[in-house]
Amino acid sequence: MMSRIHYTKPSITDLEVRYATDAAANGWGERCYEYIGRFERAFAAHLGVKHAIATSSCTGALHMGLAALDIGPGDEVICADINWIASVAPVKYLGATPVLVDICADSWCLDPKRVEAAITAKTKAILAVHIYGNLCDMDALRDIGRRHGIPIIEDAAEAIGSVWHGRRAGSMGLFGTFSFHGTKTITTGEGGMFVTDDDALYEKVTTLSNHGRSRTQTRQFWPDMIGFKYKMSNIQAAIGVAQMERIDELIAEKRRVFLEYKSRLSHLPLTMNPEPDGRRNGYWMPTIVVDKSVQFDRAALLAEFKNSEIDGRVFFWPLSTLPFFDSQTGNAIAHDLHERAVNLPSYHDLQTSDIQRISEVIERSVVG
Ligand SMILES: *Cc1c(COP(=O)(O)O)cnc(C)c1O
Repeated sequence: MMSRIHYTKPSITDLEVRYATDAAANGWGERCYEYIGRFERAFAAHLGVKHAIATSSCTGALHMGLAALDIGPGDEVICADINWIASVAPVKYLGATPVLVDICADSWCLDPKRVEAAITAKTKAILAVHIYGNLCDMDALRDIGRRHGIPIIEDAAEAIGSVWHGRRAGSMGLFGTFSFHGTKTITTGEGGMFVTDDDALYEKVTTLSNHGRSRTQTRQFWPDMIGFKYKMSNIQAAIGVAQMERIDELIAEKRRVFLEYKSRLSHLPLTMNPEPDGRRNGYWMPTIVVDKSVQFDRAALLAEFKNSEIDGRVFFWPLSTLPFFDSQTGNAIAHDLHERAVNLPSYHDLQTSDIQRISEVIERSVVG
């Protein structure tokens, strides 16, 4: 029988097991925050930012960050139409409105021209999500943000290892968020991170993340405001510390997997995640977008994958196709591109022979 090729799985070594075991055995009492502090400092140093706050998820990190900007009912946040729901759900939690704009055909990320055209008096933030590791045009977005006085926020959950002209994804906006869900480049099982260079924002989110209790509050059990409970546990953080010690290796394996696919598939009528000049792609999720000129049946390819014990996935749906979002966006690129796109298995230990097996199925299904 053929062995199953999974879509994703984490890379866990003795180091992660050792730290998690130590946290479970000894990480209590005065050591109960030790791994959390180490993980936050290692993550901030990797990104080159001043502050990092470990959270239970990226969704929670985004929720707190948006709440700290006082975003609420009547406000608008500009987002790309192609997104995982987790990026925009926090906008809805706060009663604000996600304004869905079209993507660029090459980056699959926010089109800056569409962003600028969508700005109104109600726009409170622009949410830049670096989809599948591909980078948004940060120079154009930051220029728009500066001219209109609107903060740029980065959801860099998929962009660990991605670098924009020397600056890491997630370090360029007013704040950035990350996910350590089991499918991501580094994992803590479940988990996330909030990062920022802004001291006041850091204090506010620190307070929010601690049930609204300020670090300077001397009264016990005294909340200064209604906050949240999106904390990471010390045991999860222990796994995160080990993953950070291996971060260069983990990113390098994701890049190796992508580049092996790329060299095997480059003769086919399709494009993959781009890496333009001055940018480095962390290649979280190798994705093919089959050329429009080709008769391509996405369902047939996914069925072929299934028959061959390969776990492939569809591209994210345009949010405007979901019943609870504005469907009248006219986002032609988002609606066209997702039907021609498929995500490929990409875990760190994926072998060359596996990549060959997957590529052969693609070759049979995508013939020019
Ligand atoms: C995975 C992911 C999330 C959600 O992360 P959680 O930790 O599961 O909340 C948010 N945004 C993007 C872009 C993601 O890829």
